[in-house]
Amino acid sequence: MRGLLLIVFFLPLVTAAQKPAPDFEELFRRAPAFNAQWDTLEIFAYRNVPLEDLPDVIELQICDSLRRDFCPPVTGRVLSKYGPRGRRPHQGTDIQVAYGQPIHAAFDGIVRWSRWNRGGFGNVVIVRHPNGLETYYAHLSGRAVKANDYVTAGQVIGYGGRTGRAFGNHLHFEMRYCDQSFDSERLIDFVTGELREHFFELHKDYFSIRSRF
Ligand SMILES: [Zn+2]
Repeated sequence: MRGLLLIVFFLPLVTAAQKPAPDFEELFRRAPAFNAQWDTLEIFAYRNVPLEDLPDVIELQICDSLRRDFCPPVTGRVLSKYGPRGRRPHQGTDIQVAYGQPIHAAFDGIVRWSRWNRGGFGNVVIVRHPNGLETYYAHLSGRAVKANDYVTAGQVIGYGGRTGRAFGNHLHFEMRYCDQSFDSERLIDFVTGELREHFFELHKDYFSIRSRF
């Protein structure tokens, strides 16, 4: 009797072993976005891709509506928007966070960069997504991932803080395509945490610092 129970118990395991599930992570890593201009040492990876070479409109699938593959990095008050700001234009969106608050990956992707940056970002994590977009998470008090880690939307990639050039705790969040920044509020409502577009036409003129949502 005990023998029979063991057989019944192990049967599903044997079946599973005979038919291995496709390695999603491995398939994901083969996406073109992860196999060109991949640099885990330089903060900007597309130095040899000038803005002039980019098409006027880049069509991006942001989210597969069948899967829950978006998560706001944080929700909260926007303290400072994308736009011109004195000598140093503000190329991201600042969102209020508490010290140590978990910061989430916005979409599935692979961590391209996770380091300390002397240029003002402090502790920063950069995730590249399969559509080629990169998301930047800066001023973190701590980083929870390392370069080449596979992350899923919603995974904690770091913790809120004020490292680098920051006067108070906030998340400096950027979206870039081929190193070119655009206003992330075009895609994310940081107050409600909603994704505004599932399919996005990224126009070249959005890369202007004066082009705001
Ligand atoms: Zn900022």
